[in-house]
Amino acid sequence: PPAFSPEMARRDFPILHRTVNGHPLVWLDNGATTQKPRQVIEAVAGFYGAANSNIHRGAHTMAREATEAYEAGRAAVAQFLGAGSPEGIVFVRGTTEAINLVAQSWGRANLGPGDDILVPVLEHHSNIVPWQLVAKETRARVVPVPLRPDGQIDLDKYADLLSMRTQLVAISHASNVLGTVPPVREMTALAHRYGAKVLVDGAQAVAHFPVDVRDLDADFYVFSGHKLFAPTGIGALYAKPEILREMAPWQGGGNMIDSVEFGRTTFALVPHLLEAGTGHISGVVGMLSALNWLTSFDRDAIAAYESALMAYAQQALATVPGLEVLGSAPDRIAVLTFTLAGHDPAEIADWLDRDGIAIRAGHHCAQPALAHYGLESAARASLALYNTSEEVDQLVASLRRLQEDA
Ligand code: PMP
Repeated sequence: PPAFSPEMARRDFPILHRTVNGHPLVWLDNGATTQKPRQVIEAVAGFYGAANSNIHRGAHTMAREATEAYEAGRAAVAQFLGAGSPEGIVFVRGTTEAINLVAQSWGRANLGPGDDILVPVLEHHSNIVPWQLVAKETRARVVPVPLRPDGQIDLDKYADLLSMRTQLVAISHASNVLGTVPPVREMTALAHRYGAKVLVDGAQAVAHFPVDVRDLDADFYVFSGHKLFAPTGIGALYAKPEILREMAPWQGGGNMIDSVEFGRTTFALVPHLLEAGTGHISGVVGMLSALNWLTSFDRDAIAAYESALMAYAQQALATVPGLEVLGSAPDRIAVLTFTLAGHDPAEIADWLDRDGIAIRAGHHCAQPALAHYGLESAARASLALYNTSEEVDQLVASLRRLQEDA
């Protein structure tokens, strides 16, 4: 693939050329969702304009074409994740639905009284609450794994908490609040020694660095398309095929059966067994296009660019009086969550918005992680491959003006 430059990427994003409140848009809310390249927008429009059909049903040309596109999307996701076979890929609405699917299908069958689910304190609510729900049903326990002050998971405590009671470890591959990238491979290997399964939440990871689920030896890996330049409403669950084949359906309906009688219903094989009803076909078409777009660049070059941009942003933000970035662990993606003395996060976001700069303020769906720093709310700038050092300069200049104004 060709090397990478942010200018090459930016050209493909029509939205990055609009203005907001009279200023060129500076999109620094990529942790919430990424923008879409025109290739993705055109693929979705092209599907509805020329190829719309349901899949797997009806023997006509367009149903066959839609089926082929959907299955090509599955194969592309498998390849993107290093999954080996498309059989291990289930399409879902996103990360949240994928985790709920695993909690309900795998969790109900494999958790029982006294079993532990280990969940680091930095997890997104969607990697905490589904486990709390299934733990309540099965009388298992959700056990928090503490953080160090720098935002990295406390690996000694993690090792101490693991036991033969541990059935599952649920960890994010990159934190949406601190950007922390834990040593997932090593943590997984350790969990496996106790016979525990490991679910990796890749929502914040997949857009930033290459992922290989077999190298990680993850049992489950989940992500959302919309944080990966693809449409909203589509995401994927990877599970090791031998685990997936043992999983019971969690929703019933069309597409997931073999034959239905009132006396007895027989089921389709995985992954279809776990995809009841009409899927998000145009979403899969968009995801396929997004994966093709992203992998047309050198992904190591993207990761190197982003870490240089992150280093630049850290230095630049350090010049703003009263600004403090949460977390300092060296292994992290380009996420900068910060507080600014004398200013409420909502006020900061509002101020930046007037300059056309989009960041997020709030609890970032990770209240325990913020509580670790004694906070309820913070401001977050999250960078993507199309952001530039000029945009970082604009962020810093605007924050300095806010401080001077006060
Ligand atoms: N996990 C992490 C780490 C996230 O950042 C997010 C989205 N903020 C989610 C899970 C949930 O993703 P979604 O809302 O797309 O289901």
